Amino acid sequence: MNYCSACGSEVIVKVPGGDHLPRHVCPSCGAVHYQNPKIVVGCVPQEGDRILLCKRAIEPRYGYWTLPAGFMENGETLVEGAARETREEALAEVDIEDLFAVVNVVHAQQVHMLFRARLVGGFGAGDESLEVQLFSEDRVPWDDIAFGSVRYALEKFFEDRREGVQRMHMTALKPMPR
Ligand code: ZN
Repeated sequence: MNYCSACGSEVIVKVPGGDHLPRHVCPSCGAVHYQNPKIVVGCVPQEGDRILLCKRAIEPRYGYWTLPAGFMENGETLVEGAARETREEALAEVDIEDLFAVVNVVHAQQVHMLFRARLVGGFGAGDESLEVQLFSEDRVPWDDIAFGSVRYALEKFFEDRREGVQRMHMTALKPMPR
């Protein structure tokens, strides 16, 4: 950040009084511009024994498969965010169930939160998807999964389902090798 979003002056980087980390601080109006992790929320929509995946029509990871998920908006809950992302990317309505995977993506300043969900009715490709499809566990395109957090969530989802349990899983991801 170079300029204050409150008054337009040039910001400086310093540790504000009573704080312990350097922040972008505006010397004119005194605003402190905190930068904190963003929440990505999504779900695993199920229909029978199959789950819904979306093939990405946008970068990053164009053409790779993902779960319906995206940045949470102001003014919504996690459940509302997960349902909205599914509506946008998969043109599908879902009943959101339990939160089962929390993935700290520390290097990207994000926390990903994934719910189990039930598909209600039909689906289709939203603007951000090339294609949306139901997959049984043995047909999941593991080599073409877009993100480490999605891979983790899917692994835990199927692991729980095989064992007939619904657990809560949490991890911290390392940066993907390039
Ligand atoms: Zn300012």
